[in-house]
Amino acid sequence: MDYKKRIEELVALLNQYNYEYYVLDNPSVSDFEYDKLYQELKTLENKYNYILENSPTQSVGDFASSELSKITHEHPMLSLEDVFNKADIENFLSRIEKESHLHLEYICELKIDGIASSLTYKNGKYVLGATRGDGVVGENITRNIATILDVPKTLTKPIDLEVRGEVYLPIDNFNKINAAREEEGLALFMNPRNAAGGSLRQLDPNVTKQRGLATFYYTVVEAEKYGLKTQADALCFLEELGFKVNPNYKVCKDIKEVMEYIEDVDVLRKKLNYATDGVVIKVNNFHLQEEIGYTVKSPKWAVAYKFPPEEAETKLIAIEYSVGRTGTINPTAVLEPVLLSGSVIQKATLNNEEFILEKDIRINDYVIIRKAGEIIPEVVSVNKDKRTNNVPFKMITHCPSCNTLLKKEEGIAMHYCPNPNCDAKLKASLVYFASRDAMNIARLGEKVTEQLYELGYLKKITDIYKLKDHKDELEKIAGFGKKSIGNLLEAIEESKENPLALVITGLGIKQIGQKAAKTLANFYKSLDNLLEAKYEELILLKDFGAIMANSVLEYLQENKGLIKELQNLGVNPKEEVSDLPLIFLNQKIVVTGRLELFSRGEITEVIESRGGQVTSAVSKNTDFVVVGENPGSKYTKAQELKIKVLTEKEFLELIK
Ligand code: NAD
Repeated sequence: MDYKKRIEELVALLNQYNYEYYVLDNPSVSDFEYDKLYQELKTLENKYNYILENSPTQSVGDFASSELSKITHEHPMLSLEDVFNKADIENFLSRIEKESHLHLEYICELKIDGIASSLTYKNGKYVLGATRGDGVVGENITRNIATILDVPKTLTKPIDLEVRGEVYLPIDNFNKINAAREEEGLALFMNPRNAAGGSLRQLDPNVTKQRGLATFYYTVVEAEKYGLKTQADALCFLEELGFKVNPNYKVCKDIKEVMEYIEDVDVLRKKLNYATDGVVIKVNNFHLQEEIGYTVKSPKWAVAYKFPPEEAETKLIAIEYSVGRTGTINPTAVLEPVLLSGSVIQKATLNNEEFILEKDIRINDYVIIRKAGEIIPEVVSVNKDKRTNNVPFKMITHCPSCNTLLKKEEGIAMHYCPNPNCDAKLKASLVYFASRDAMNIARLGEKVTEQLYELGYLKKITDIYKLKDHKDELEKIAGFGKKSIGNLLEAIEESKENPLALVITGLGIKQIGQKAAKTLANFYKSLDNLLEAKYEELILLKDFGAIMANSVLEYLQENKGLIKELQNLGVNPKEEVSDLPLIFLNQKIVVTGRLELFSRGEITEVIESRGGQVTSAVSKNTDFVVVGENPGSKYTKAQELKIKVLTEKEFLELIK
């Protein structure tokens, strides 16, 4: 494939995964899969020197996009460069050794798989808590952090200080929360990290409090101001001040000691009550750290070694097929139960026919399965030495639910059921509409939806809003009762107030996930406007292409009646329409340096509300750059490329 096309594809895919991971706290792929694609992108970018301005390699991938207020970090909160094997670590150490003239020492720490946070203290009193966000602008989580028991509210010394570390959800609490959610029919959290993210970024701090979060802090900002010379000193200092510091760190002098540490941690981590996804290796001496410096995204004096995902071998007993909401047929391996990463695994995804044939997976084979980040396990390979079955896999030809002949389109890996009235498809689209990803109707989980479907109360999404007409009958169904039906109907009524983006997501338009739904909602502002959407408009929307635009138009054409019915039933959200002039329509604008008049969040809002788009890197497609104090490399690049540069005051004049 043409490298430009592949790079564009990877950027779009990784940005979508970033959004699911950081904003929705609900990833759809494992970290292992994400890291593999990220490394592929990085290699292609380096090889061809072709870097898109919205590439995830150019900025910290997180977003500060919740409804919480925003905070601009005085010192950027960076990410870490990942490494995956001994050779990568050796490269890192020898790069450092070349640059250094001081006696070298490294400090290795556990990489806690939590949410990065920054805490500020004035005169020893806790005053501010923030998430990392995009590294420059984070979310204000002061009140939420205040509910975490192990965060000191008063330090042992009355000093001004900023510290950074991880907020995490202990594994036992994670299991308890998921067990309770299962009881209530709510969607389960994927893993402790995503649950911690969701818990921390709540508008109501009482919800955060109930989740039982905990912390480890490891960074003192401007540590040398406090007379600290090394990271090891900083950890002791943090502990003296009253912070929770992870005790499992070690100062190492060479690769041998670093590798020994990694081996020890690999054993230790399986016994800990918190998730760790690797080891962070840092230069210990602060002076040397500053000499070595930073890239736009991470310090050059540290790397994160990521543990490979755990694997296990087991027998594949059968292949089952399920039908997705768009009719796609998903093959799943039924396995002999096997213990992996602390849980018993009985099923693994097989993706599609192509995947199964490529790996030559057969029933009764012994397969190696992998599980990363608590996401659905996958089959990695087959142990062919143990093979007893001579018959290669053959894909089913008819829908397992309605027996319609399956179809497959050129260039698309999945088979699908073309029958619009296929029961499995209709059920899946109802489940998706009510799910956490879409309308988030608590109590209308998969089981209840299927039951109501079988009983004939639900056939299409509009029926959900007609359930109240059957209240008396529903209360009589075994297992329901007055109270639970009352709660269900209340949750359904509440969902009418959901924002437009969630309704659009819930429609389940092919190719339109949560992020694209948000883009549509921002542009069209109401279902009425969306119904009038035109190809010329859709194609210009951020990250939209011809396939997505056509898919929206096709859906609207086929489902106009359904949308009108939804509106009549009271599901008719409207976004606020701004009457601001769209002076930056379709312009790409970069903001750099420290701003005086705006916070990062404010200037982004000003630009976006006037039709513009804030991008992170300067390129020849940038329309102009707004510069604050100490602008750095983006400013230099703008000058090189002769891109228009505006001071904050000039920008203010422009919008006036
Ligand atoms: P990261 O999690 O790989 O590493 C950087 C972070 O590690 C720092 O910001 C810090 O918060 C944390 N950290 C934990 N312990 C630390 C310690 N002792 N010292 C210093 N820092 C420590 O980077 P990231 O930018 O937060 O996330 C990128 C990673 O997230 C990817 O590599 C991928 O694995 C995952 N991700 C997954 C998806 C997905 O869809 N599955 C999407 C986006 C990102």
